[in-house]
Amino acid sequence: MESAGFWRLLGGMRQVVLGGETDWAGWRTATRALVLAGVGPGDVEWVVGGVPDALPEVAGSFNVPRALVGLAGLAIQAREPVRFGLLYRLVWRAHRGEVVLDDPDMALAGRLAHAVRAEAHRMRTHMRFMALGDGFLGWYAPAHFVLEANAQLIVRRFPAWPLTIVTSDGSAHWDGGRLWFGAGLAQACDDETLRAWWEAHADAILADARDGTSVPEAEDLDEAPRPPDRPALGPVVFPVASDPALADARLQAAGCERCDLCDAATQTVFGEGPADADVMFVGEQPGDQEDMIGRPFVGPAGQLLDRALEEAGIDRRAIYITNAVKHFKFTLRGKRRIHVSPSPEEIAACGFWLETERGRVRPKLVVLMGGSAARGVLGRAVAVTRERGQAIMLADGQVVFVTVHPSYLLRVPEGEAQLREYRAFVRDLVAVRGLLGV
Ligand code: SF4
Repeated sequence: MESAGFWRLLGGMRQVVLGGETDWAGWRTATRALVLAGVGPGDVEWVVGGVPDALPEVAGSFNVPRALVGLAGLAIQAREPVRFGLLYRLVWRAHRGEVVLDDPDMALAGRLAHAVRAEAHRMRTHMRFMALGDGFLGWYAPAHFVLEANAQLIVRRFPAWPLTIVTSDGSAHWDGGRLWFGAGLAQACDDETLRAWWEAHADAILADARDGTSVPEAEDLDEAPRPPDRPALGPVVFPVASDPALADARLQAAGCERCDLCDAATQTVFGEGPADADVMFVGEQPGDQEDMIGRPFVGPAGQLLDRALEEAGIDRRAIYITNAVKHFKFTLRGKRRIHVSPSPEEIAACGFWLETERGRVRPKLVVLMGGSAARGVLGRAVAVTRERGQAIMLADGQVVFVTVHPSYLLRVPEGEAQLREYRAFVRDLVAVRGLLGV
C-alpha cells in the first residue's frame, strides 16, 4: 500500500518528510495513512524540510473527535519540535478507541494550543507597520509559527491595501487580490534595514506572485545596525516620553484587553510627546492610518491639526498628544474600514490609560478635542458647541479646555463653511497658547 518515497524507511522507522513547520495538510494526510497502515507512534519520525513525495492511497475509514482535530490544528503551529509526534500519538490512540481527553499528552497539546492562540493575539496587537508607497510594511518575531493563520486574518481586515508582513520565519504579501508567502528575515531589524530589505527584494517578491517563482532565501542580518527599539514611523518622528513609568504603561497597554476593541484593531496606539509637556491634547481614538502605523494623529485629521497648531504658534514637538480610546473602532463597508464612535463603556474602560498619562505628564492644561475626549476626562456627556472655548478647573486643580475634534472640520462641506470652522479652531488654539502664557 505504501507508495515509494512517501515515507523513508530508516531501519524499522518511517521518516515522514513535511514540507514546512506548519504543513498541516501534509501532517494530516500522513497521519491518516500511517494510522490506517497500522504504524505505531514509536515507529514514526517526523522531519521538516524537503518536498513531500506522492502520498499513498490507503483504504479504510478514519474517525477522530472533531475537538481533537481543532486542537491539533492550533498545536501544530507551536514552536515545539515534539508536536508532530505528540499529535500523532493522540490521533493514533483516539482512533483505537482510547480515551485521551484528560491525560498528560492531551494536557501538553492543550498548553501548546493555548500558547499559539495567545501568540496569535499578541502578533495582531503588537505588530507595527510603516507606510510604504501606497501600502504598509511590518516586522514581527513570533514565538510560534503563527504567520500564515494571522496573515489571513490581518488581510481580511485590510483588504484594500497592499501589505507585507515580515517575520523571522517567513513573510506574507498581499497585493489587494492575492496572498502569498515567502522567505523572511532571520534576525530582528530596524525600520531602515527592513525598508532596505524590501527595496532589494520587492521585484522578486512581486514576480513570485506573478510567475510562481521562488523568493530570496532568508538572510542573516547579524551585520546590520540594529537599535534596541524600533521607533514608530509616520510623517514626522516625534519624541516619545522618556518617563520610565509612562514607557512601562505604553508597554502594558500594548497587550490591553480591558474591552473588546483590541480584537479587531491592529495595535494599541498610545500617546506620544515629552513627559514634561505643559499641554496635553486628547482626541477620540486612532483612525485607520493611526491603527496601521501605531502613532496618534498621523492621518488626515492629524495633518490638519499640525497645520492649525503651526498657525496658532504651537510646536507639536512640545505637546503630549493622545486619545481617549487607544484602539481603532470601525465597521467594514466593502473593503473600507469606517470609523465608529466608541461607546461610553469603552471610553470608561480606556480611561485607565488616559488617567495614567495625565497622572505622569501632569500638564498645566489639557485640551479636549471633541465629545469623546471630553467624556474621557470629565466623565460626563459634554455638548461641545456649548462648552467650547471655556477653561474648566477640575477638582484636582488641572485646567481643561474644550474644542472640536479636527476630523469634524474634515466633515464640514468644503468651501466657506469649512474655512470658517477651521479659522474658529485656530482661534481656539491661540486661546490655548494664551492660557499657557506663551
Ligand atoms: S480600547 Fe483601551 S481599554 Fe479597550 S482594549 Fe484598547 S487599550 Fe484596552
